[in-house]
Amino acid sequence: MIAMKWPIRIRLAAVYCAVFLTVIGLLEVGAYASIRAAIHSIVDHELETRLEGIEDHITRHLPRFGWPQMQGVFDAHPAFQPAYLVIRAADGKTLVQGHGMTGVARPHSRIATVNAGGTAMRVLFVRRYFLGKPYDLLLGTDLQMPAAVLHRLWWIMLVSMLPLVIVCAAAGYWMSGRALAPIQEIMFAARAIDSRRLNQRVPVPATGDEVQQLAETFNAMLERIEEGFYQMREFTANASHELRTPVAIVRAAAEVALLRRKPSEALYRETLERILRESERNSALLESMLELSRIDSRVDGIERDWLSVNNSVSECCERMGALAAARNVALRFVPASADVQVLADKEHARRLWIILIDNAIKYTAPGGSVTVQVRAESGSAFVEVIDTGIGIAPEHQVLIFERFYRTDKARSRSMGGAGLGLAIAQEIATLHEATIHLDSELGKGSRFRIGFPLHLPPQRFADRPADEVLR
Ligand code: ADP
Repeated sequence: MIAMKWPIRIRLAAVYCAVFLTVIGLLEVGAYASIRAAIHSIVDHELETRLEGIEDHITRHLPRFGWPQMQGVFDAHPAFQPAYLVIRAADGKTLVQGHGMTGVARPHSRIATVNAGGTAMRVLFVRRYFLGKPYDLLLGTDLQMPAAVLHRLWWIMLVSMLPLVIVCAAAGYWMSGRALAPIQEIMFAARAIDSRRLNQRVPVPATGDEVQQLAETFNAMLERIEEGFYQMREFTANASHELRTPVAIVRAAAEVALLRRKPSEALYRETLERILRESERNSALLESMLELSRIDSRVDGIERDWLSVNNSVSECCERMGALAAARNVALRFVPASADVQVLADKEHARRLWIILIDNAIKYTAPGGSVTVQVRAESGSAFVEVIDTGIGIAPEHQVLIFERFYRTDKARSRSMGGAGLGLAIAQEIATLHEATIHLDSELGKGSRFRIGFPLHLPPQRFADRPADEVLR
């Protein structure tokens, strides 16, 4: 069973949301980091300024008051933040000790953030010389206030994400809905199309994008399906009509014979002969229909083998000789001077030649002639069937290759034809990538020319030089 997936609209909205929130998240983290860095640099700058003031103060007042008085001097100047000041002599003796600096260790670098009893503190440490002696100065700034600001900022950012998620999801859902709306329209329209409404088409949105292309492709496909359906329907209607006629004739002939009060043997014989003729015609028609449907269903190609065109055509001419003689038509075969080999299905090829030769004999009056010739020319093997028969009017020349099409129904039927021969020939030619070309003049005759593509035969056939094969 196929696992049910989330609808594409939800997935698109989720992806949109995820991308948007990742970008916003990264921006917020970046903003937070730079605000934090800016606060630290302000704090550091303030520490440096304080240090300068303290240094200046010590230089000016130390000679006058000495270290024991300095604590008092600093306490009198709140701007120096004496609570966050420690001064030690080089021997470790503490000279000034701010109460806010109790327990604050000396940092490893000049300026650093240290933990002072649970709260963060920025500490500046320097060694300076006053009156020729070294002293260590430790200045601190409580980071509680900036930390509170940063903390609040962090919360604001985090909380603002929630409405952002909602807005983002809604915007993504709405946008993907808009993008998918034409597809949904196509889907609904496509659902309404069934075999009775194949002439309907899906709406084509003038978006100029893939959705428009999809709708156009879908409509083009419907067009082909409709055409196929129409052809099938027409074929079925034609076929039933063609099959019904002989059956009706057989039935009528039998009924007439049975209704006679005193039927003679001659009547029975005549009726049976008629029934036999019509049955044969029906069998031939069914055979042709089966043949066509076999060709139609052979979608994945045919089995081809190398075939000598001279041999195959000459064999068919021999087979058709008797019919030609019976109709007093001269049948002539002109082979190619050097034999040509084509890749073809043997049975199909034979059937193709027979259809054309049979038609040529059928539609040529007694005393006329049919010439069948094989030629190899400019990469093709040509088989031409030329007759001096009734010819085909220009308006019929394309149509005669359609199924059940006959220029003269009565004439064709009297000769046993149902209008499927040339349709089969056309299908066989298409299967072999061959062409059928017709030249005809009414009353003068016709020339059907089949052109098979010439491939070079494999070594077992190529006992002649290639130029001879191709002529
Ligand atoms: P049919 O079984 O009726 O001969 P075909 O498909 O073989 O069916 O031919 C279709 C129609 O084309 C025929 O009915 C006939 O009118 C015309 N036709 C075919 N071949 C020839 C030809 N050599 N000369 C004149 N007309 C032809």
